[in-house]
Formats: sequence, C-alpha cells, structure tokens
Amino acid sequence: MARRGGIVRPTAAALRGAAAALTRGEPVAFPTETVYGLGANALDAAAVARVFALKGRPGDNPLIVHVSDRGMLRRLVRVWPPAARLLADAFWPGPLTLVLPKRRGVPDAVTGGLGTVAVRMPAHPVALALIRQSGIPLAAPSANRSGRPSPTTAAHVAQDFPGLLVLDGGPTEHGLESTVVVLGERPRLLRPGAIPLEALRRLVPSLTAARRPREGEIAESPGMKYRHYAPDRPLWLFRASRLPEMEEAARENPAALVLCPAGAASRFPAARVVPLGRTAEEVGRNLFAALRTRRRGSPLLVLGIPRRGVGRTVMDRLERAATRIV
Ligand code: AMP
Ligand code: MG
Repeated sequence: MARRGGIVRPTAAALRGAAAALTRGEPVAFPTETVYGLGANALDAAAVARVFALKGRPGDNPLIVHVSDRGMLRRLVRVWPPAARLLADAFWPGPLTLVLPKRRGVPDAVTGGLGTVAVRMPAHPVALALIRQSGIPLAAPSANRSGRPSPTTAAHVAQDFPGLLVLDGGPTEHGLESTVVVLGERPRLLRPGAIPLEALRRLVPSLTAARRPREGEIAESPGMKYRHYAPDRPLWLFRASRLPEMEEAARENPAALVLCPAGAASRFPAARVVPLGRTAEEVGRNLFAALRTRRRGSPLLVLGIPRRGVGRTVMDRLERAATRIV
C-alpha cells in the first residue's frame, strides 16, 4: 500500500498520490531549484490556512504562488506588463518571483490581504510535474517552521515536520530562495535571491533595491520585517573586512563552530570549521544546511562575503539570522 506521509522518491505513482493529496486540501513538500517548498492549493483558502498553521507563519506574510505554465497565470494576475514579460522570458522557469495585481479569485489568505500576488515558475522538474499533475497553482513557502533555516534537503523538511509527505529531489541547486521583484511605476527588488540584482538590472535598469524597514516602519514586502533563518544558538556574523576580530573570537571561544568561505578555513586552526565553498554561489548552496549543523549552546561564528552578485543574498540571510553583527 502507498504510504501517505514521509520522504518518498518522486516516481509517477508518488506524484499522482501527492497531486491527489493537494486536491484534497492537504499540504505536500516538494523540491524546487531554490529550497524545498510546502505546497497547498493556492485557490483553496482552507488549504492555505493549514500551511500558515503548520509553519507558525504570521498571517500578514504572503506566499508565493507557483505555476507550471503561463496559462495558469491568467487565473492569478490581472495585468501582465511588458517588464514582466521581459523578465519572465529571460528567467522563467527559474528563481525569480514577480509581484503583480491579483485577480479576485486569489484568496486573501495567500496574499496577506494585499491587492497583489507573488508568482513564479520554478525550474525543478519535480515541482513542474507536481503542478501539472494536480492542475492547480501551488502556494508554497519554504518547508521549514517559521524563523528556522530554509530546507535544502528532504531530511531538513522531515526535521521540522516529521511524517509530512515530502517528494525527495535530492539537495537543491541554489540553496537560497527566489529573488522577489515588484513591477509597477517603480520596479523594486523586494528580496535578494538566487538571481543577482545585477542580472535583473541588465534588463530593467531602473530596478532599485528596497531597504529593510526599521522598527515600526511599514514594510514594502511584509517578509522583510521578520527575523529569519535562525539556527538554535547565538550567531555572530563578521563582515568580510573583520577577519582579525573573528580570529580573536574563535580563540576566545574554543567551543564555537566556525562557518567561513573555503579560502579562510586555515585562519582558524584550533576551531571546528565548516567550509562553505569557494564562490558566492557555493556559499549560498551550503549556507542553510550549515546553519542546521547540530551543536547546541556554543555560538556560531560566521565570516561574511562581499556583497556582489549572490553575495548580497548570502549577506541578507546571514544578517537576518544573526544575533550579533561585527
Ligand atoms: P517565502 O514564502 O518565505 O519565500 O517568502 C515570500 C516572500 O515574498 C516574502 O518576503 C514576502 O513578503 C514576499 N511577498 C509575497 N507576496 C508579496 C506581495 N504581494 N507583495 C510584496 N511582497 C510579497
Ligand atoms: Mg521562508
């Protein structure tokens, strides 16, 4: 008999079972090229509410709706401006999310009551097959408990949600969430992501980055105001230029776990070091798994990287996870 939950290989039978579960309003976790998603029928308010409850996600933080083809978009967005077409032609399927005016049929539960909806077409074959098989757009935030690091393997999903049905697609390609852009009079980058701002600006030169809101300010994108991606212990983030301070902190805290780009690993001879990779892309791919490394209590010391390309995204995630920034 087919299992109803747990980690399963994405066979044709498993995809049929997962699509049936989604149609019944049940959540299913699935791989994308960014991180694992916790999917629900985006047009079913009760199914979406279940996802918020499972994650413990604040109701005002809207979800991204995933589609398998542009035809599906017609059920979701009211307008499709030229800039949307330009960006979708260049980056879809892929890790780019576009925020556009929504249609009435999109439940408020998905958009946190906003008049816009965030949409994207993922590039992962299992994600696309699941959406096609179910025939419904899938609202899917990252498949982690709210505030925890995003899952980049099926095992991470099972850590946060034991027994949940997870389609296993192996480790994710980017390991960082999608880049979120709102199109309108002033195109804005709402969340740095797997596609660097520089690549988007080549097509939309007027695109600017929205600033993270300070205490009490209204956020352009609700997700910007939440602390996020936090491991289960203190995280001290050192900017790339503060290597000497980090070396000293590692000497003073022999029990600390050090996360750093591969090139800096030899600077911490006495510490337990998790090298994150040589390029910003590699650091991004390995970051969330490293933040889940188990060793309660002792601080994590993390060396930042330059804010170029995907480095901007890596630093955004680290700043939101940090308990202290040096
Ligand atoms: P997550 O589901 O955790 O990957 O987060 C989705 C991100 O997209 C959050 O930062 C949300 O604030 C943002 N987002 C989703 N829908 C909208 C919207 N309609 N307007 C602005 N930001 C949005
Ligand atoms: Mg998330």
